[in-house]
Amino acid sequence: MNWRDRIWQILFPKQCPFCGKNIRWESRCCDACAEMLQKVKFQSGSIKETYPLAGIFPVFAYQDGVAYAIRRMKFHNHPAIARHLAVYAAEILPEDIYFDAIVPIPMRQRNIWKRGYNQAALLAKFISQNSSIPIKEMLVKVRKTRPQHTLNARERRRNLEGAYALSKTAEVSGQTLLLCDDVVTTGSTLREAAKVLLNGGAKTVYAVVIAAAGVEDENLVTDL
Ligand SMILES: [Zn+2]
Repeated sequence: MNWRDRIWQILFPKQCPFCGKNIRWESRCCDACAEMLQKVKFQSGSIKETYPLAGIFPVFAYQDGVAYAIRRMKFHNHPAIARHLAVYAAEILPEDIYFDAIVPIPMRQRNIWKRGYNQAALLAKFISQNSSIPIKEMLVKVRKTRPQHTLNARERRRNLEGAYALSKTAEVSGQTLLLCDDVVTTGSTLREAAKVLLNGGAKTVYAVVIAAAGVEDENLVTDL
């Protein structure tokens, strides 16, 4: 390592994305969080009832340091956390499925201006870099919705009806697509987005998310 890198690393220490503690530059996270991640890791295929999606791949359960990292990425202006989380997401993608593109869940332009970024698009960008699956922003959000986390399951479904549309340049016909979002709770967002892609002619739609909330709901998650 040259002296410039060394000074840079002293001035700007790397932080564990899951607790904020300073860590070595070559580490992904601190030792305590590495252990925590083992406990909240999902088994592949653990989310049932994904229709109309062919499958949802969550990396972690939404708890402990994972929830902390996602909240910081989303609400406290730490977009760089997306880069760390994306590495884990790229690793769990099944090798026997060929994905034509990663499609981030869109946000309204106004909300992107407010936050400064769309966290789903950032995650998709870094997952793409780590997996070589191209990213294609095939969806747009066409109307305002209420924040999903303030609503119950039924309201969440109705809140999103007709909220997404295909972008003008989207070519979905016959494609196997991988939606990308930060968290899955009831799955309404992913279902609604998948519906639009499938109605547009996509062959199959899967989704990758960093975390699944509501892990105690036995209809949603098994095999933890
Ligand atoms: Zn940590």
